[in-house]
Amino acid sequence: MKTIGLIGGMSWESTVTYYQIINRLVQERLGGFHSARCILHSVDFHEIEACQRAGDWERSGELLAEAAHGLERAGADCVLICTNTMHKVADVVQAATSLPLLHIAELTADELEAAGVSTVGLLGTRYTMDFYTRKLVERGITVLIPEEDGRAFVNRVIFDELCLGTVSESSRRAFAAIIGGLTARGAQGVILGCTEIGLLVRPGDTSARLFDTTEI
Ligand code: GLU
Repeated sequence: MKTIGLIGGMSWESTVTYYQIINRLVQERLGGFHSARCILHSVDFHEIEACQRAGDWERSGELLAEAAHGLERAGADCVLICTNTMHKVADVVQAATSLPLLHIAELTADELEAAGVSTVGLLGTRYTMDFYTRKLVERGITVLIPEEDGRAFVNRVIFDELCLGTVSESSRRAFAAIIGGLTARGAQGVILGCTEIGLLVRPGDTSARLFDTTEI
């Protein structure tokens, strides 16, 4: 079995989900008491979030690059960055290791292509709704994001609620309404482009086709 290297802690609330999904899938495929071989480098999110707010992508890139390098030395066979936002520095992380980095936006684009979705809604942090859109457009996918107030709301719920472990019914309803708005504008599906959104929005909460990047 290969060993998965995880750069997590961004936030740890969603890294828990990664750990659950990866182990569940290995157990389903191999049966018995099998579980995933993995190595987790969990960062202090306080430091990363401060870099994001200050626009210091260079420093946060260095921190994640060091983590990737450490995972390689520890024996990992591949690397995952357990957040969409920090894929903004994916190139720097990839440059620090000879291991393959499984890029969350590329894998999401693969899923969209396989599902025949060419116009998609995107929810994520304010950073993600910017750079991720460009990444998907490069793959020939049309991306719709909420209007300005919707983007600010989604960003606020991610940082002030979900990353701190708060899951509220009113935010769930508001997200469902925002997803409905994207569908009404022509989205054939909606990307949950933040690894914590799946903790809030479940498939039964909306009739839209959801692409949860944590699951992907
Ligand atoms: N986990 C979130 C994401 O997928 C947000 C936290 C972060 O800013 O890294 O983008």
